Amino acid sequence: MNLPKLAIASLGGTVSMQARTAGEGVVPTVSGATLLASIPELRSHAHVTVETLGMLPSASLDFEYLLSVLCWAKYQIEQGAVGVVITQGTDTLEEAATFFDLLWDHDEPLVLTGAMRSAAQAGADGPGNLLDACRVGLAEKSRRRGVQVVMSGQIHLAQAVRKSDSMGLQAFSSPNMGPTGLLTEGAVRYLHPARQRNVLPSPKHTTHKVALLQATLSADTLLLENILALGYEGLVIAGFGAGHLSETWTEAIDAIADKIPVIVATRCGSGSTARSTYGFKGGEIDLIQRGASMAGFACPRKARILLWLLIGCQRQDDLARYLKEDIRF
Ligand code: ASP
Repeated sequence: MNLPKLAIASLGGTVSMQARTAGEGVVPTVSGATLLASIPELRSHAHVTVETLGMLPSASLDFEYLLSVLCWAKYQIEQGAVGVVITQGTDTLEEAATFFDLLWDHDEPLVLTGAMRSAAQAGADGPGNLLDACRVGLAEKSRRRGVQVVMSGQIHLAQAVRKSDSMGLQAFSSPNMGPTGLLTEGAVRYLHPARQRNVLPSPKHTTHKVALLQATLSADTLLLENILALGYEGLVIAGFGAGHLSETWTEAIDAIADKIPVIVATRCGSGSTARSTYGFKGGEIDLIQRGASMAGFACPRKARILLWLLIGCQRQDDLARYLKEDIRF
């Protein structure tokens, strides 16, 4: 039978973790092939290839590494795969998905998944999530949807998804728009139409640094004042409420925004920054006048990835266009 080709890679994370010795903490040990063996039903739907590209907790993934995974995934499509599925740790799943989505220039789906329970734990969710992710990766209607995250029977847009619970099974949500699709009775069902995406070229530079700071009550300005001296080429601040800073942080912004791009996002976890509501010093109107860009719906971590990629391909001037796209993040 002529089955469609699906490529799977595993990078590590809880989905591939087990204790080496009883009573010890879990670490990545389970290969991609073993994960695949846990969903034998897939064999009748697709010709599946699987590779173990890493055994890392996702906190230790980095942009260079993700670029190499992206190359691998693009190669799979060039070799005829109808979709690619990547398993990784959930701690940075939202960031990796955003990173890939901003660079994924294929119509074929790239789907990310993981697990909240480790491989040997009772009720492990890894096999179910992997099977769902493969279903999404194989579905014709997943084409032209960029990178998506599949967890707990839900499909989330890379730009919208967040890990919003540290250990709960239902840890992923898309606060500003909800899931973009669901898996019910094994069927992939989309709730929203596919949307126009703006894909960036691969970064030419990868050694630049973009800082992310969070505004907190009564915070000192020591780190802020040293941002330029430390060599950062971009700054994202997770601001209060609708994207606000204290008066002291605001004064420090002038000199920084003069030299490098500064994005102010909201630290709230959902909702957008404002543009034209608050008139106080450190409010969004003032910050925009001082040269900062407001992140809109982009959460601070995703705004940092966007800025890092834009700087990497020397497209900083496009920042406003990327941040303007409503709900995209
Ligand atoms: N707790 C994490 C996970 O869910 C560990 C990691 O991100 O690697 O996979």
